[in-house]
Amino acid sequence: MAEYSTKVLIIGSGPAGYTAGIYAARSGLNPIIVAGPQIGGQLTITTEIENFPGFPTPIYGSELMNNMKQQAENVGVTIHEDIITELDAQQRPFVLCTENGNCYKADSIIIATGASARWLGLESEAKFRGFGVSGCATCDGFFYRGKEVAVIGGGNTAVDEAIYLTNFASKVTLIHRRDSLRADKTLQERLFANPKIEVIWDSVVTEFVGSYEPLSLTGLKVKNIKTDEIINLSVSGAFIAIGHHPNSDLFKGILETDAEGYIITKPNSCATNIAGIFAAGDIKDPQFRQAIVAAGSGCIASLEAEKYLASLNK
Ligand SMILES: Cc1cc2nc3c(=O)[nH]c(=O)nc-3n(C[C@H](O)[C@H](O)[C@H](O)COP(=O)(O)OP(=O)(O)OC[C@H]3O[C@@H](n4cnc5c(N)ncnc54)[C@H](O)[C@@H]3O)c2cc1C
Repeated sequence: MAEYSTKVLIIGSGPAGYTAGIYAARSGLNPIIVAGPQIGGQLTITTEIENFPGFPTPIYGSELMNNMKQQAENVGVTIHEDIITELDAQQRPFVLCTENGNCYKADSIIIATGASARWLGLESEAKFRGFGVSGCATCDGFFYRGKEVAVIGGGNTAVDEAIYLTNFASKVTLIHRRDSLRADKTLQERLFANPKIEVIWDSVVTEFVGSYEPLSLTGLKVKNIKTDEIINLSVSGAFIAIGHHPNSDLFKGILETDAEGYIITKPNSCATNIAGIFAAGDIKDPQFRQAIVAAGSGCIASLEAEKYLASLNK
């Protein structure tokens, strides 16, 4: 059990956390990052990234995040492999404790704990994740030019992703477990008017099917829950669009969140409702959830933390 003091404690080691760390270290604030349960964040569970600027050819998500980690360490960020389990926001400095029994006293905090994509939970889904199964159409749609794909879900995200994917795919099949969509009416109208989209109602995916050498999705087994009939749907890509879970449980009752649990920050800012606590990346962004946006807000949070500390003469 150890006790640490820092001017800036960063919770999370995704693009937002590492970027905040790089900026804070280069401002001489000697930040500490507590990396959390997923070192490197969500990009470590995907394959090629083609839309993060600075890489003329695709880079593996895990490589990109290793680079960010190395860069952070090179400029002086201390990284601890641990998980924050408690925050006392009444005291100054703030007090945080971890799963390993360590404690931190921090003059400011940057929360960059992300929002995890929800998955169906099938074993075959996990097998093909990154090899045909994706949680992000904006990220991976481009890889499916001229191919047939499926989107699973019935809310705004699912409908939005289905429409977006018609820019690339030859056909998009939306699979929904009910007989009507939850998405906004205007989105539904656009969906039904799109000749490239077909909807399969009252149905769930029971298995993701494909080849193993190399790993590549070729289709889905889709079961109608009213008739129990199972059909084989031939697709090269399947986009799971059943929502995200913002990792903010720890801050419930302490920080202002929206109904889904995303931390609310002031307009054009990463400041939360508590002075000295900032939020960056997907944890405050129900809308875009992209690595470059997360990195950008990590930068903003760090610059704002620096200003806050200066106002305290720290
Ligand atoms: C399959 C997939 C593919 C994607 N592909 C792309 C792509 O091609 N391009 C793109 O721009 N975006 C892509 N994204 C989105 C991108 O991954 C996210 O927008 C980005 O990672 C968000 O960064 P973040 O730093 O906010 O959070 P995350 O990357 O989610 O990192 C959150 C961090 O918080 C830590 N943490 C959580 N709880 C705690 C705790 N209690 N204590 C300490 N630490 C904690 C975790 O360990 C993790 O390190 C993809 C997402 C997925 C799921």
